[in-house]
Amino acid sequence: MNLNGVQLTWLGHATFRIDTPGGRTIIIDPWIMNNPACPPFEKKLKHVDVLLCTHGHGDHIGDAVEIIKQHNPQVVGIPELCGWLEKKGAKQIAMMNKGGTQKVGDIKVTMVHADHSCGIQDGDQLIYGGEACGYVVEFENGLKIYHAGDTNVFGDMAIIRELYAPEIVMLPIGDHFTMGPREAAYACKLLKPKAVIPMHFGTFPVLTGTPSDFQKLVPGVEVVTMTPGVTAGQLVTTGAELPTAVRGETRGRRQAQERKQA
Ligand SMILES: [Zn+2]
Repeated sequence: MNLNGVQLTWLGHATFRIDTPGGRTIIIDPWIMNNPACPPFEKKLKHVDVLLCTHGHGDHIGDAVEIIKQHNPQVVGIPELCGWLEKKGAKQIAMMNKGGTQKVGDIKVTMVHADHSCGIQDGDQLIYGGEACGYVVEFENGLKIYHAGDTNVFGDMAIIRELYAPEIVMLPIGDHFTMGPREAAYACKLLKPKAVIPMHFGTFPVLTGTPSDFQKLVPGVEVVTMTPGVTAGQLVTTGAELPTAVRGETRGRRQAQERKQA
């Protein structure tokens, strides 16, 4: 499946950088500098226009405050989390709540449900962070993706499918703190995506779910296992398009190499 100009880079764990055809940079779940799964050459961000925050746990917003200080992005999140980030220096708040859709720059963002907790660790204090959420993002080219955030499987994923029909879904598969492969496979039944990008696995020993375990449970679904730091300009559906994915990976490696040399 062609991303038609959208560049998608997994930065490890649940963090993605998306570069839109219009030249804007979006970060979903800003955990970068302290993210052990993020390759060193990706830790220095050139610019950030939009942050999408799924919830307040450190492995999702751990570097949000630092990124906000450096790049002053628009910050999308649930009101309680946005309020905390505003206190920490965010100047461009685009708060919203579940069920709502707003235009942020050149994307349309819908906040959807996730079934998870959302406390924010602020020094030795645990702050109420509202609720965890996921996002459906629609790009100018019509492409729709769904980042599930941290969640178990829930039946209303069928509503997300009915209403928004995202072609590409990013699902946690690591188990323990989120769904593992078995629940993620059930999520695929509800979401019927063209491609699934597994995330939130392997970062810590306790996150034991693997893409190969997951793929075995969803034989008809294309599972795109990304490598952190590798940019996918094109993702593919099962079968004939496989070389395109390989091309995408090769280009990502070349970019990574170039960055290392730079
Ligand atoms: Zn998490």
